[in-house]
Amino acid sequence: MSSVTVRVPAKVNVQLSVGPLRDDGYHDLVNVFHAVSIFDEVVARESELVTVRVEGEHADQVPLDDGNLAIQAARALAKHAGRTYGVELIIRKAIPVAGGMAGGSADAAGALVACNELWGLGLPREDLMEIAADLGSDVPFSLLGGTAVGTGRGEQLTGVPTGGDFHWVFAVADGGLSTATVYGQCDRLREATGEQVAWPRVNDGLLAALAAGDAERLGTELVNDLQPAAVMLRRSLTRTLEAGRELGALGAIVSGSGPTCAFLARDADHARELAAALSGAGVCRLAVAAHGEVPGAEIV
Ligand code: ATP
Repeated sequence: MSSVTVRVPAKVNVQLSVGPLRDDGYHDLVNVFHAVSIFDEVVARESELVTVRVEGEHADQVPLDDGNLAIQAARALAKHAGRTYGVELIIRKAIPVAGGMAGGSADAAGALVACNELWGLGLPREDLMEIAADLGSDVPFSLLGGTAVGTGRGEQLTGVPTGGDFHWVFAVADGGLSTATVYGQCDRLREATGEQVAWPRVNDGLLAALAAGDAERLGTELVNDLQPAAVMLRRSLTRTLEAGRELGALGAIVSGSGPTCAFLARDADHARELAAALSGAGVCRLAVAAHGEVPGAEIV
């Protein structure tokens, strides 16, 4: 085998509940991840060295050294196999960079699946999931896909049943937001307001809406504890979210740590109309219609 191509989806958190700051600097989280049809492609080709090339919009914002999560994934897999391997990775980016849609994690998951195949390792998914968890808290979900509850730092995953497709519009902003900065802002906001932070719990209403395939209800049950912090760091998001609601979205939420905003639509036609209207309203750089759930990293 001289080349393997893997397709990996972006995610939106339909619930992101952030517990109190722990002594180790992390937060206990309850995440409900939902994989959507915006895909990066990771191509792995035979090579002596481990290298990466990135194609697509905003490729210039992605590191090409060991800071690249796909490179880290390839190295971690080789280490797990106890051998030295080379690979030329080519990432075709469609997932917004630093957009709160786990683009880097998607590429890491893609690299794990692609290199496992290219190098003929034949490791089972459970092994890849373990390596993924060490790479970053969103990487295991990028492998798994579908819809899943993540607890701990997000890496302990349990699949969640869904009763049908959901249709979304993602409003992509100019520039990204650093996940660490958004968490820091969230901590400062909570400290300043003296808010008593509850232990995070899964929203049962949200799970019921997902199971029933009920977009109307899901729109009212979306949760993102990072939203106030993201909006403080990027004031223009208030307008973006308002515009989506005014244009008839069933729900409007910042995706993960932002600045991408996610809008729930009634159906595929509504999503297309909403995307066109949001693009025309000048409240984002780009509005993309997508659906979920979709599978995790898979060879194409
Ligand atoms: P999350 O939703 O998981 O918090 P994100 O979608 O907000 O993440 P990413 O697109 O994953 O953000 O990028 C965050 C940072 O990670 C980027 O600014 C970039 O410097 C770095 N990075 C490392 N590898 C990659 C990669 N393969 N693709 C994109 N960014 C990468």
